[in-house]
Amino acid sequence: MKQKIGLMGGTFDPIHVGHLLTAEAVREQFGLHRVIFIPAAQPPHKQGRKVAPAYARLLMTEMAVAGNPHFTVSRIELQRSGPSYSVDTLRQLQDEHGHEAEFYFITGADAINELSTWHEAESLLGSCHFIAATRQGCALDLERLRREFGPELVSSHIHELPTPELEISSTDIRQRVSEGRSIKYLVTTEAEAYIYKEGLYS
Ligand code: ATP
Ligand code: MG
Repeated sequence: MKQKIGLMGGTFDPIHVGHLLTAEAVREQFGLHRVIFIPAAQPPHKQGRKVAPAYARLLMTEMAVAGNPHFTVSRIELQRSGPSYSVDTLRQLQDEHGHEAEFYFITGADAINELSTWHEAESLLGSCHFIAATRQGCALDLERLRREFGPELVSSHIHELPTPELEISSTDIRQRVSEGRSIKYLVTTEAEAYIYKEGLYS
């Protein structure tokens, strides 16, 4: 049987319980063997904003997933220079794992709706699966995706998983820290302690 491996990419600046809960829900629902969290080096979509150092985002991510035997963290994008294109990451992982592995990118529906703007989008979609975590007010734009990639590719490679409404974002967490407000229960206790110890986002 093929190994089903979930890939959770993100800036993780910082990683929060929305990321963790979504990854676990997808793992369970889609019968994934494991989920690899992949902190992005130089986020192609987030140029212009100051991002916390890679080692800090990596460490917070490692601490956050430590308690889940199905979760691991990969430095694959941090070790590569230049922008972090998902298509390059996928090719590298396919080379490492051989063809007995099947990869599932886990992303918010908002990100998947913009898939056509990603580097080598069609080739990427053709060689892995996408799981769109949909939330209220954040639906999959199937009409747009079918128009851009064709209905067959979309129905066979893009899957939807409704997730609970979790109004949590890294943006909000950074804002809270800068205003001296609480981030308890939004991030793991280890990440919370690390953010204050390192003076991140203040
Ligand atoms: P920022 O506010 O800086 O954009 P973020 O909270 O969106 O950060 P990212 O690191 O950009 O976090 O997100 C990584 C992935 O996690 C993306 O695919 C994003 O859609 C998804 N994601 C982010 N927040 C949530 C959430 N609350 N529930 C489910 N998925 C989420
Ligand atoms: Mg975001």
